[in-house]
Parts: sequence; C-alpha cells; structure tokens
Amino acid sequence: MENNSLRITNLHIIDPSQHLDEDGEILILDGKIARIGEPGELPEGVPVMDGMGLCAAPGLVDIHVHLRDPGLTYKEDIFTGTKAAAAGGGTSVMCMPNTKPVIDSAETVAYILEKAKGASARVYPVAAITQGMTGQQLSDFAALRAAGAAAVSDDGRPVENAALMKKAMELCAGLGLPVASHCEDLHIIGKGIMNEGAVSRKLGVPGMDRSSEDSVTAREIALAAATGARVHICHVSTRGAVAFLRDAKARNIPVTAETAPHYFMLTEQLLKKRDANCRMNPPLREEADRLAILEAVRDGVIDVIATDHAPHSPEEKSGFETAPNGVVGLETSFAACVTGLVEPGMLTLYELIERMSTKPAELMKLPGGTLKLGAAADLFLFAPDERWVVEPEKFFSKGKNTPFAGMTLTGRVKYTFLGGKLVYQDK
Ligand SMILES: [Zn+2]
Repeated sequence: MENNSLRITNLHIIDPSQHLDEDGEILILDGKIARIGEPGELPEGVPVMDGMGLCAAPGLVDIHVHLRDPGLTYKEDIFTGTKAAAAGGGTSVMCMPNTKPVIDSAETVAYILEKAKGASARVYPVAAITQGMTGQQLSDFAALRAAGAAAVSDDGRPVENAALMKKAMELCAGLGLPVASHCEDLHIIGKGIMNEGAVSRKLGVPGMDRSSEDSVTAREIALAAATGARVHICHVSTRGAVAFLRDAKARNIPVTAETAPHYFMLTEQLLKKRDANCRMNPPLREEADRLAILEAVRDGVIDVIATDHAPHSPEEKSGFETAPNGVVGLETSFAACVTGLVEPGMLTLYELIERMSTKPAELMKLPGGTLKLGAAADLFLFAPDERWVVEPEKFFSKGKNTPFAGMTLTGRVKYTFLGGKLVYQDK
C-alpha cells in the first residue's frame, strides 16, 4: 500500500468548502482525500484509525505569520514555526517579509520555498512592497510573483507615502497579487508602547493613539477603491477601523480584513501587570473595541482570523517598556477562538472553520482550506470540548511570548495531517 494512506472512522466532519457538517469517515489514499462521508469500499492494507469523539476539518490557513527565517532564527525558524502551526491545527501559513534579508528578491523567496519542503506546514511567502521595507523603492512584483510570492506587504511597518502605496496597488492589481497592509501612522505612534488611554496614563508610559490605525485603514480603503487592487487589512484592533471596513464593504470596495484572537479576547487592562508578553502592535485596546471586533468577526465584516504570530526571545521580552512588540499565537489560536467565539455562542464551529481555513485560502487564492475529493489531505482532528491550560514552555515555537499563558482554553488539537502524513499528535 502507498504511504500516507489512512481511513479515519467515527468522525464529525466540518468542511465549509462543501457545506459539510455531519458524521462520517475520511479515506486518505496516497496523501489525497479519496472519500469523505459514508463508508465505502476499502482498498486492502489501508490502516484504520478510530476518530470517535473527534471533529475533522481542513487544516487551518494562517495568512499572517512571522517565521523569522532567514536571519532572525534565534526567534523562530521555518521548521519550529511550522511545527507550532501543526500543533495548532494549521497546515498552511503565509510568512511575512520582515526578515534578514527582507523578502524582497526572488532569491529569498526561493530560499524559503526550498527550506519549507521539509517543514510541517505549507509555507507561502509574502514579499515586501518596498525594497528593504524602507518605503522608498517598490519591489519587482512580477519577479516576486514568478518566484512564488503569494502576496505583498511591508508588515511591521506602513508604506508611509500614499502615492507609492497607490502605485504598488495599481501594479499588484494587474498581477492579481493581494496587498496586505499594516495600518499605522508612525508619526502619531511616536514612542508609544501600548494603547493610548486610561491604562497607559495610569502606568505613565507613552501611548499609541487609535487614530494611527484608523487613519491609515481609511487611506488604504480609499486607495483600494481608486485602484481596484485586492487590499487586505492586517490585524484590525479598533472600533474605528471596523466602522471604515463596514462602510467599505457596503460600497463593494475590494477590501478584506483579519483580526487575531487577542483583539477579541483581551483588553488593555491586562497591561496593568506590566508584562511585555501582553504587548503587540497594534496594541490591546478597550472593551468597546473588543466588542466591535467580536461583532465584526460574527457578521463577516472581518473576514478571517489570523495569528500575527510574532516570536521573540525571552531576553528581548524581559523589559516591559523596552521589549519589541509581538506575541506568539500559532499554538493557541484555535482553542482561543473556540473559547472566545464558539463557547459563548458567537460562532458555530462550522463558521469558525470558515474563518480560519476556508476563507483565508479563498481570499489569498491558496490551495488549502478544503477536503474535496482529490485535494491534498491537509486536515486536523480536534476534541471540541477538551479543556487545557496554556503552558508556553511546552510550545514547539521558540517564542514563549504569549498573553494567554496560564489561561484555561477549550478545544484541543489532537492530530494534524499534511498531505496525509501525520505532522502532529497530541501526547
Ligand atoms: Zn503588522
């Protein structure tokens, strides 16, 4: 019998790409989905696994991940980052270009794709909008596209010059390349380290005013309307940005958006403990923002949930005011979403899989996000009601910088398969 073949019985199968939410079994032959649903004829020699009590879904597709490779591999590398993805139910990640060197050349795209052949998840590089992410010269989008870049972004920074961003969008519209934007005004942000508000004033630390994110989100929407480019707004954190997106969608402007679990589960109140593992950019906001993000995730104004997985070393994260921004998320995102969205009845599991797998694959035109016949058997099995405590020291990621440390979450990833091969098993 071929490798990577398996019959998994007694599952509850959720696959929004084919409107499936029913009990059944999955047959994987030679790494591909060969049957789904009712049991049928079985080729000889295929091993059987009993999935009793588990749900199966297409592997999660995380369109915002920092793998830190090349150049910053003390924080993370392609192997550890994709192991973390697999442990979180992920089978595809898009990796951001703020590496060393920046992903702004065909050579660096090729390096990532080559190294990712041995990784635990599929890796889709996002190339930089500007060379070196310095905001001066546009990258060679056609060459990057040809090399395998899935989208472009200067994530970690905004493209400050609106005319340059408009030009980038015009070129990317012609190539069908999505443009992902980190919406921030560096002049408004100044030296801010957390949300500008009651807590930053109480702690006496410089704040990051929400108008930074709101204003650039509005700018990107205006530029999307002007150019017709497929513009994607990264890590939405404010109620103002949600309002602009709601309006943009009502006007059929080609813009999509993501948020991350911390923005709908946590607020700036957490910063009172002066823990740098609760600092990211954009920062945790106020309760009214959290509620606006929840509503937007529920009604689809925010299309997808990503992690903005941003590992840093413990040394870097040791000082509350001096640490770099960013938190890890790959190993907690699914359970955080079950806990924050499904348990309270905001979303069904089906709708959650849609937002974490089906839609992200669709809007970035990636091959994953489906268990259709013939598709690569990229899937994960999970125990929807199992509760567990977040212990960062057990992460596969080199980054332990999570704001969820010590929290009890519901929803446990048990097995992850990539092309029918077992890449993660809960022990
Ligand atoms: Zn960003």
